[in-house]
Amino acid sequence: QVPDALAKEGPVSPSYDWFQTDSLVTIVIYTKQKDVNLDSVIVDHQYDSFRAETIIKDYSYLIHIELSHAIQEDFSVRVVANVGKIEIVLKKKENTSWECLGHPLENHNSLIPKKDTGLYYRKCQLISKEDATYDTKLFCLMLPPSTHLQVPIGQHVYLKLTITGTEIVKPYTPVSDSLLSEFKEPVIPNNKYIYFLIKIYPAGLFTPELDHLQIGDFVSVSNPEGNFKIAQFQELEDLFLLAAGTGFTPMVKILNYALTNISSLRKVKLMFFNKTEDDIIWRSQLEKLAFKDKRFDVQFVLSQPTSEWNGKKGCISPGLLSEFLKRSLDNSKVLICICGPAPFTEQGMRMLHYLNFSKDEIHAFTA
Ligand code: FAD
Ligand code: NAD
Repeated sequence: QVPDALAKEGPVSPSYDWFQTDSLVTIVIYTKQKDVNLDSVIVDHQYDSFRAETIIKDYSYLIHIELSHAIQEDFSVRVVANVGKIEIVLKKKENTSWECLGHPLENHNSLIPKKDTGLYYRKCQLISKEDATYDTKLFCLMLPPSTHLQVPIGQHVYLKLTITGTEIVKPYTPVSDSLLSEFKEPVIPNNKYIYFLIKIYPAGLFTPELDHLQIGDFVSVSNPEGNFKIAQFQELEDLFLLAAGTGFTPMVKILNYALTNISSLRKVKLMFFNKTEDDIIWRSQLEKLAFKDKRFDVQFVLSQPTSEWNGKKGCISPGLLSEFLKRSLDNSKVLICICGPAPFTEQGMRMLHYLNFSKDEIHAFTA
């Protein structure tokens, strides 16, 4: 059922079809959209349910069925972007002919507002945990083989753990495993791993439990959410990032993406606010990146520095911002991304408006 408002001006509902060979079953989703990519579809096969959620603007098109026959754990997903076609290739467990794909489950073959789909989770295994600072760790989680999920840049997921019988859910922003990926051994691109930088609060509800997990334990990971759009980078010339504490996390993928993919970019500047030097996440990686890529600059601002610190001090202020946010050309196209504790982001937004940056030039990451 397509809601009226969407039927008038939104996307048309996708449709699907399927075909088989002796060993494979291919499900084809015709999205009727041009801008689909591998981020646009999330596929899970767990318990008796096969679920493929295709994201189209603020809507989800669901394929949700109990398959008629058993399939192998892994499958592949292909996108033919220019015709908006998504193909999911399943491997049959037995080479028999299927008479039907399966039985429809809830919301199968329907286009529904994304907010009404609810959060869908799959269990991911903890692969590694490394210190990034004294209280912040880089966690690596592995998706199950029966999931296809890529978290788009600037989006977050929810992690869920059952703590003394109660399910607790908190949002976290996936990062890349490093800011300097090309310094590493070449590896086959593998989207099975999701990395997080997470600060452990000793008196917190969720993070101490997460920290107590052993390698091999499981955490549930939701589908991505968030309203950052990669289109905001189009023709971008100056990118300014204002991050406080773990508000640095969305900036990681933004930095990697912008420096490798946006050819119009002249300058990328990060102003990173922390309490002390020891709180700065990935400081040496940031300094190396600034050394390696002349378009990138980083400035650290400390709110509780020791007397030896001779860098910038204090909290976010109009003075600091007006000095920092210098366009490389008078009318260059800018984007300012801001993320940190809620009061930091709120104050920052007010200062940016006061400094005459328009709404379109600012993206605030909030809850
Ligand atoms: P909480 O129980 O929420 O406590 C946090 C701190 O506040 C503790 O020090 C606690 O003692 C104190 N506290 C709790 N209640 C009170 C109170 N009533 N009065 C005074 N103090 C109190 N965090 C990351 O580390 N990495 C990320 O990538 C990340 N991404 C996020 C993305 C989004 C969209 C949002 C909204 C948040 C993100 N966060 C991220 C923050 C994360 O969701 C959690 O809020 C954080 O991990 C704290 O969780 P907790 O349950 O351990 O702590
Ligand atoms: P923190 O307490 O270590 O503070 C880091 C810096 O933030 C401080 O040095 C200061 O400059 C600034 N700051 C802190 N409190 C402030 C206040 N009241 N007013 C003005 N400036 C202030 O930070 P943390 O413990 O790393 O917390 C990071 C925050 O970022 C968390 O609240 C987390 O929820 C949020 N976060 C949000 C997202 C998102 O996408 N919305 C993503 C990641 C983190």
